[in-house]
Amino acid sequence: MWILNYRSSLVLVIIILFLQACASAPVTGRKQLMIVPESEAISASKSAYQEMLEPYKKSGKYNNDKALKKRVDRITSKLIAQAIQYRPETKDWEWSVQVLDEPDTVNAWCMAGGRMAIYSGLINKIKPSDDELAQVMGHEIAHALAKHTAEKMSVAMATNLALGIFAATQEENSLALQGAALAAAVAVQLPNSREAESEADRIGIELAAKAGYDPNAAVSLWQKMGEGGNNGMDFLSTHPAPGKRMDTLRALVPRMMPYYAAKVERPSYSLNE
Ligand SMILES: [Zn+2]
Repeated sequence: MWILNYRSSLVLVIIILFLQACASAPVTGRKQLMIVPESEAISASKSAYQEMLEPYKKSGKYNNDKALKKRVDRITSKLIAQAIQYRPETKDWEWSVQVLDEPDTVNAWCMAGGRMAIYSGLINKIKPSDDELAQVMGHEIAHALAKHTAEKMSVAMATNLALGIFAATQEENSLALQGAALAAAVAVQLPNSREAESEADRIGIELAAKAGYDPNAAVSLWQKMGEGGNNGMDFLSTHPAPGKRMDTLRALVPRMMPYYAAKVERPSYSLNE
């Protein structure tokens, strides 16, 4: 007969979690630590989304430019249709995109579960072409498609669990869970790792090419972001530039051209409100 005390059973649980925790990102196949289920990241993101949008709705800074909203919708819905090809189960996500009127904020994001926003400042200051805007949204969708929020939450939770081994109580474990939910709420405001950035670039350019947008725009977009200096601050602070980003994207262009040039229909996804 053997009896595990609480501490050793916790260690055992952690080992089992880690053994089961290997996932692979789509397209790149990169191994990811995934102890927070994506479903948890999605439900935490849903409440975070509502909270983040509320102040914009209240102050009337929400989807005011109808033509811009239509343009963003048209481009984004084509990208989503391609994203679903890689992960068919994401057709059940509540994909949506809102334009937030903040003329000085150059930023955009996509949460776990496909809820997106783009700030009017990105349009005003970067003046992206449709092809370039597709690269922005493709990059953001790629973060969600590759489960980067759940991965960030997993790393946070693994750290909490590792610390928890030494002074674990039931209460502290539930605190760790609350911490993970909180991590989802602020995930879009935290910088992504360089690895996640490269992955989002790689997947994003492919989504955009398959949706019918010129892969060369990935290079020109980042050029504009770089030239924007302080103007690009918000976007560049949450999307730190991996070294040689533009070189890597430029090298990918020839591989993406056949997708872009293909004479095929480019389907659209019906966005949620
Ligand atoms: Zn990014």
